[in-house]
Amino acid sequence: MSQYDYIIVGAGASGLLLADALGKDPYFHSKSILVLEKGTKASNDRTWCFWERGSGDFDALVHKKWDNIYVAGEKLRLSTSIVPYAYKMMRGIDFYRHYVPKVKSYANITWVEDLVFDISEGKHHVSVKTEKGEYGGQVVFNSIFDVDPVKNQDRFPVLQQHFLGWFIKTEKAAFNPREATFMDFSIPQNGNTRFMYVLPFSETEALVEYTLFSEKLLKKEDYESAIKSYVAEKYDAVPYKIVDREFGSIPMTCYPFHALNTERLLHIGIAGGWAKPSTGFTFYNTSRQVKNLVEHIRQGKELTQFYKKSRFQFYDMLLLDVLHHDNSRGRSVFESMFKKRKASLILKFLDDKTSVWEELQIISACPKLPFLRALWHRLF
Ligand SMILES: Cc1cc2nc3c(=O)[nH]c(=O)nc-3n(C[C@H](O)[C@H](O)[C@H](O)COP(=O)(O)OP(=O)(O)OC[C@H]3O[C@@H](n4cnc5c(N)ncnc54)[C@H](O)[C@@H]3O)c2cc1C
Repeated sequence: MSQYDYIIVGAGASGLLLADALGKDPYFHSKSILVLEKGTKASNDRTWCFWERGSGDFDALVHKKWDNIYVAGEKLRLSTSIVPYAYKMMRGIDFYRHYVPKVKSYANITWVEDLVFDISEGKHHVSVKTEKGEYGGQVVFNSIFDVDPVKNQDRFPVLQQHFLGWFIKTEKAAFNPREATFMDFSIPQNGNTRFMYVLPFSETEALVEYTLFSEKLLKKEDYESAIKSYVAEKYDAVPYKIVDREFGSIPMTCYPFHALNTERLLHIGIAGGWAKPSTGFTFYNTSRQVKNLVEHIRQGKELTQFYKKSRFQFYDMLLLDVLHHDNSRGRSVFESMFKKRKASLILKFLDDKTSVWEELQIISACPKLPFLRALWHRLF
């Protein structure tokens, strides 16, 4: 069995960012690192968006950014600036084309394309079994998300942010390329929290995505018919063709993923609970967590100490409790927030960066009863 200091399982967003951070840091040059990835990372399998103040680490890979967003509810129609933030979009393929060769070029990193089917911790190392072999790691960073422990508990509700998107090209100008539709709840909710998300790349090209925060996935045709009706209604039945598609489902839960970590096995990315429970946004937090993790290891701290509790998890939990109890509540919560508070403040809050005073402003903008009820049930 080949032995490594570190094994990174899965080379998606978290695996690649971690491998790059370890590979470029001279502190880790004496460490042997193995990356195990089942795929080739050669397709544009996702579009990552995040908001950021000013310039950032991914700017060279950013495909498009917007300073304005549109949010709509039952009554609300809001076009607003998000300055000092910009909403930035990166194509998965550009990210992979940049990071995969970079990671493979580090002298102390070995890249093996293989399917991992078991990770088990022994006394002296963690053993990783793959289709083609078995590897031992002093420490394993695992980004394969195992849904079972999350499903087999009922203390923390589990919703999903699920969506299907069409990249469309219209025959004539239809979109405003300076404004991204962040959440358009003006569509039928059918008992859930449903919204449209539109990223316009030009006047004739956009990603139009039908998104839900709910427990169960829909049939493919249900997402597609919702996109069809939306484009017909919102963009005056402009003729278009579908150039590409994407589908995603991101867990929304306050399940304590960190409880699965040990001294030798740390879960990263979605598997580590790095997705924001109340929104599904994961990418930017992953980039932050990777930096924190590398610093944590450099300081010789134990992996089980990596997790940090924060009051934002409590807010996330209350929102998920509200949506779990009444899944149609999302529209009124977000509509009320965006109606009463500045979009940049809401983004700061969703980024876990607000002060307690700012959080009180956000909380006071939300409908009171559902949150008080959720709070009561959590406390008693
Ligand atoms: C379509 C889509 C759009 C998204 N858009 C956004 C967004 O706009 N903003 C945002 O913040 N988040 C977004 N997310 C959520 C999140 O940022 C991504 O899912 C992100 O890729 C999660 O990173 P990760 O490292 O946890 O998982 P992944 O990036 O999925 O990486 C896991 C890796 O493990 C590999 N793997 C899986 N099983 C095995 C196995 N058995 N053996 C070996 N390798 C294996 C996979 O091939 C993959 O490369 C999106 C997700 C999807 C699916």
